Amino acid sequence: MYDLLLKGGRIYDGSGMPSSYADVGISGGKIVEIGRLNGGAKRTLNVDGLAVAPGFIDPHTHLDAQLFWDPLGTSSCFHGVTSVVVGNCGLSLAPAKPEDRDAVIKSFVRVEAISRRVLEEGIQWKWKSTAEYLDALGTRLGINAAALIGHIAVRHNVMGEDAVERQATAEEIAKMKELVRQGMEAGAVGFSTNQNPRHMREDKKPVASRLAADEELGSLLDVLAEMNSGVVQLSGGGADARGRIAYAAQMARRTGRPVLWQSINHSWSRPNHWEEMLANTQRVFKEEGLPIYAMTQAKPFQNRYTLLDAQCFDEFPTWKSAMFSPVPLRKQMFADSAMRKKLRAEAIEDQSPSVFPRRWDVIFVDHVKLPKNKIFERKTVQEIARAEGKDGLDWFLDISLEEELETRFVHTNTQGDPNAVCEILKHPAVMIGQSDAGAHMGYDARFGYSTAFLGCWVRDHGIMSLEEAVNKLTFRVASVFGLSDRGLLRAGFAADIAVFDPATVNTLEPEYVQDLPAKETRMIQKAAGVPHTVVNGEVVIQDGAPTGAFPGKVLRPNGWRR
Ligand SMILES: [Zn+2]
Repeated sequence: MYDLLLKGGRIYDGSGMPSSYADVGISGGKIVEIGRLNGGAKRTLNVDGLAVAPGFIDPHTHLDAQLFWDPLGTSSCFHGVTSVVVGNCGLSLAPAKPEDRDAVIKSFVRVEAISRRVLEEGIQWKWKSTAEYLDALGTRLGINAAALIGHIAVRHNVMGEDAVERQATAEEIAKMKELVRQGMEAGAVGFSTNQNPRHMREDKKPVASRLAADEELGSLLDVLAEMNSGVVQLSGGGADARGRIAYAAQMARRTGRPVLWQSINHSWSRPNHWEEMLANTQRVFKEEGLPIYAMTQAKPFQNRYTLLDAQCFDEFPTWKSAMFSPVPLRKQMFADSAMRKKLRAEAIEDQSPSVFPRRWDVIFVDHVKLPKNKIFERKTVQEIARAEGKDGLDWFLDISLEEELETRFVHTNTQGDPNAVCEILKHPAVMIGQSDAGAHMGYDARFGYSTAFLGCWVRDHGIMSLEEAVNKLTFRVASVFGLSDRGLLRAGFAADIAVFDPATVNTLEPEYVQDLPAKETRMIQKAAGVPHTVVNGEVVIQDGAPTGAFPGKVLRPNGWRR
C-alpha cells in the first residue's frame, strides 16, 4: 500500500534517458517503485498522458525572508519548483547578531529591492548563527530550501560597520573563516559573494563584500576546500566578463569546488558577446576540467514602450533631454532634422554597449493608434522603413508624431536571438535559472524560469529534447549543489515531483496581489500546464491550487551529519 500513486504518466526521470510510460509509487516521502504498478494506495493521482519529472531545483533565489511568511514559496511552487536555493549574491539573513541586523537589511532593501517595511514586519529574528537560521527556516516549509552563507552578513558579523569602509585584517579574516566553517557544519550548501560594482546599500555605501580583497575571499573559500563541500556563488556585473570568468576560474582552481558565476545572456547591443563568454567558460570548463558554471536566464525580457513613456533611451543625453521635456517640446525635438541627426548618432551609430538594441530589425511595432496604420503591427521598423524607402529612425519618429507619440513598440532586451539562446542553453557549462525569485517583487516577477524554458525554448523553438531539458532543470542542479537524493526519479530518492503538460506548459503574465507583510503589493506569476507538484511525497499543489500541506525541509549537502 503506497502513500501516493501517480498513475499513467510519462516519466522523464532527470537522467536524460528516453522517457516512457510508468507509474510512480511513493511511501514515507520517498519513491518506492517505478513501473506498471498494481498495488493499492491511500491516494492516487491520475496523470494520464502528462509528463512526470523530478521537481525543479531553482539555484538562484532571494526567498530568504519570504519563506517565513510564505512557506510555500509562491510563485515558484506553481512552476514545478520543489526546492530553492537562498542566500545568493552575498545576501543571507545569517549569521547576524542583533546589532548587525540593520546592516543586512540595508543591503537587502537596495540590492534586491525588497521593501524595508516588508522585511521589518515579516522577519522575526530568532537566530544569530546560520545553524539557528536553518532551524527556524525548517519549522514550516511547503517546498524545500537550501541555503548559501552570504559574505555580507559574515563580514558585518566580524567587522560591524567597518565592513562597508575597509579591507579586513588577518585576525578578522580568521574570525570570518570560523563563521563560514560553522555555517557549513550546520548544513549550508556553500558560500556566496557580491562584487557587482552597482550593488549598494540603502545609504549608498557599497555592500560589504565589495570591500573584500581577493585574498580575503580566497581564504574564506579555503574552508569549503578543506571540508570538500559546498558551491561558490559569485555575483558580478559590469562590462568585464572576461575578468569575471578568469576570477571564477581562479577560485575553482584554488578550491576544487563548483563555482557559479553570472551570467551569459544574449543582448542585441553586443550580439556576439555571448560567444566570447561561452568560449572562455568552455576553455576552463572543458580543457582545464574545472567545475565552473555560468548562469543564464530562460525568460526573454521584453520591453514595450511609446515615446510618451520609454526609458530605454535614458542613457543617451539628447534622447534623455527629449524624454524629460514636456510633450509639445518633445514633439518639436523629434520633428527637427538637426536634432534627429544627434538622436541617430547616439542611439544607432554609436556602438558602445547599451540597453537599447541599436538596430531596427529587432524592434517591432506592437500597437498603433490609427486604423490606417494597422498593417504595420507585428512588423519590424526596418522592414517597414525599407518598403517605404525611409531611414529607420525617420520612420520610427514620423509614425510616432503622426500618432501623438502613442505608437507602441516592442523589442527583446535579453535572450532575443533564438539561435544564440539555443547555444547558451544547451551548453553543459551553463546553468539555467537566475529567477531571482523573492527579489524586486514590486516591478518584476521571474519565478517562471522553468516553465518559460519548457514552453518557449524547448517546445516552441525545439532547441533540445524534453529529456535533456528536464535533466538541465533537475539532476544537473542537484549534482552541482551536492543534493544527492534529489533530481532523479529513482527508488530510494526523495519524492519531489513536477507533473506538467508538455503541450501547454508556459509562464503566464505577472499579476499584482496585495499579500505582503505590512499589506504591501507584489507581482506574482502563475504557470499554465503544471497541474500538480509533490514535495517529499506530499501533494502541495493539486490542479494548480495549494493543498495546505507543508512537507518541505531544509536541504543539506551530500555527506552532511549533524
Ligand atoms: Zn541574485
